[in-house]
Amino acid sequence: MIELPVLPTLQADGGAANDSPILGIDLGTTHSLVAVYDAGGARVLAAADGSELIPSVVSYPRAGAPVVGRVALDRSTLDPARTIHSSKRLIGKGLADLADQRATLSYPLVDAPGRSLAMIDLGERLVSPAEIAGQILAEARRRAAEALKLPLDQVRRAVITVPAYFDDTQRQATREAAKLAGLEVVRMVNEPTAAALAYDLDHRGAECVAVYDLGGGTFDVSLLQRQEGVFRVLATAGDTCLGGDDFDRTIVEHAAQLIGEKYQVDVLADPAARAAMRLAAERTKIELSSAESADFVFHDPAAGIAFRTTIDWRMFQGWIAPLVQRTLDACFQVLKDAEIEADAIDEVVLVGGSTRVPLVKAAVSQFFNRPARDELDPDKVVALGAAVQAGVLGGQVRDLLLLDVTPLSLGIETMGGAVSKLINRNSPIPAQAQEGFTTYVDGQTAVEFHVVQGERELASDCRSLGRFVLRGLPSMPAGLPRIGVRFTLDADGILRVRAREQESGTATEIEIQPKHGLTDAEVEKMLHDAWQNAEADLSARRVADLRERLTTVIHAVEKSYAKAAELQANERERLEDALEDARDSAEVEDPDLLKGILDELEEASYPLAERLMHQVAADAVKDHKISDLIGEEQ
Ligand code: ADP
Ligand code: MG
Repeated sequence: MIELPVLPTLQADGGAANDSPILGIDLGTTHSLVAVYDAGGARVLAAADGSELIPSVVSYPRAGAPVVGRVALDRSTLDPARTIHSSKRLIGKGLADLADQRATLSYPLVDAPGRSLAMIDLGERLVSPAEIAGQILAEARRRAAEALKLPLDQVRRAVITVPAYFDDTQRQATREAAKLAGLEVVRMVNEPTAAALAYDLDHRGAECVAVYDLGGGTFDVSLLQRQEGVFRVLATAGDTCLGGDDFDRTIVEHAAQLIGEKYQVDVLADPAARAAMRLAAERTKIELSSAESADFVFHDPAAGIAFRTTIDWRMFQGWIAPLVQRTLDACFQVLKDAEIEADAIDEVVLVGGSTRVPLVKAAVSQFFNRPARDELDPDKVVALGAAVQAGVLGGQVRDLLLLDVTPLSLGIETMGGAVSKLINRNSPIPAQAQEGFTTYVDGQTAVEFHVVQGERELASDCRSLGRFVLRGLPSMPAGLPRIGVRFTLDADGILRVRAREQESGTATEIEIQPKHGLTDAEVEKMLHDAWQNAEADLSARRVADLRERLTTVIHAVEKSYAKAAELQANERERLEDALEDARDSAEVEDPDLLKGILDELEEASYPLAERLMHQVAADAVKDHKISDLIGEEQ
């Protein structure tokens, strides 16, 4: 007798799976935290020893299981090449994107075989940044289970935060990491949005909020607007490669130079020394947040180095000023994007450990012209906000809804290569938009759609997201089919595009697989290019539009050219000249010249159009007569 395998029964509604808590996890570059929303509101869960921050560090001992958090951090100097910190900066990126960071990392990076995806080379195997994030999330999950006194398999759902600038690939990699940790991501939330949520729960009334988040490795600034308990993100900007790590680096570089002068060594050449230097620099930096000067101390007995120097906060301030300025530039950009004056902001919220640096706090307050809020611990705000969102999804919090924005516009390529934008950059998501299209050639039974992302006016300058074909259209004259194209962008930034011909109901749909996500640098570059090229683009767009109209008119004239025999000689000559000029205009890039050619062709074709109209009218009369005759016969 053959026994059937016993399948695990799936939990039905109301089972443990749905009663299980939803964790709010801040998966940070430097630190991660886990929080929940329960009867007492949002709270961060602590380990047995009371610690709340989980260092986002994973270390791979040569033998045995990987270690995570504090234990891993302690191994940074012992085993730097196998101790992975700041891996969030690598997630979903290729080596090429990481050129300027590689030198600062203590561990070797390679691209995954055949793909542009950075992985850490442990020697015996490659580890992906998603795998490392998975270890950190698994640690958060274990911690939560312990703190909540639940068996691990009842802790399976989480809201996870990501920087606002994370693209599809990075979000997807984060999702993958959660899966590795045995967690289902119920929602991904942008970090600054979560932070605003944590604050505004207690402080109602503010209309417009700026969230400035400067962590260890990422920077975001977002503008949010509250409307009857609903947050709307007006705009966001940022740089996921800017943070406290860079502050540390200024101290490391300064000290390394002094050490080099004194000991004639390049202390940064050795990974272990580099890791120790970085930790020492961070200690110095943190001290400088509350003291006028602090010592930087570095000992390396093996190399005969015993080094100490005093760093004055003024020196430090000078080193980091350009970095802080970069964050203010982003603040400026975000105001510009949202078309809002700094004075219109009601609240400024500080998030991230690096906002404890007095220069940062002062610069932000000055920029927005009001004291920035810092009463919630800037390390915990994001996790608390994630827990609030978990509370919303779990049904404990009812009066809030969270919206995020899309960082780049999404559209469809139209005839002539221009872009028709359906969803504009910085639109709150989830979002839906619809636009009507039609065919271009008589009897066309299939239409290709090209979905693009970007701010430029021409499709060729935007990023191609995918193409799909709507087939089986009924054969109709050009311009008659009504094809509705609908974009649906879900809360996780996944785009579904549906095209439907309205008469026949023929429809097709694609989901844009986020396989070649953009790096943050690419997103920034695309925005930058768009601003740089705005004028040139406008002219290119005009050229594209004019070309499209020209093609249509040429097409129409050619179609009815038989009628040209009825034209007078001079009319026909003019039309032929105009048609020739139009056909030869492929090289013409000057919009005014093109416009001249188009105008001339349109005018030259009037006599032809007139003859056509007469013909149509005559046919109509004829038809009429026939039907009248039929009527008489009956
Ligand atoms: P992330 O979100 O990137 O994980 P965090 O918000 O945890 O980052 O911030 C970590 C950064 O904050 C680190 O660079 C750390 O050195 C810095 N930091 C923490 N406390 C202080 C302080 N008191 N003064 C200056 N920097 C600090
Ligand atoms: Mg953070």
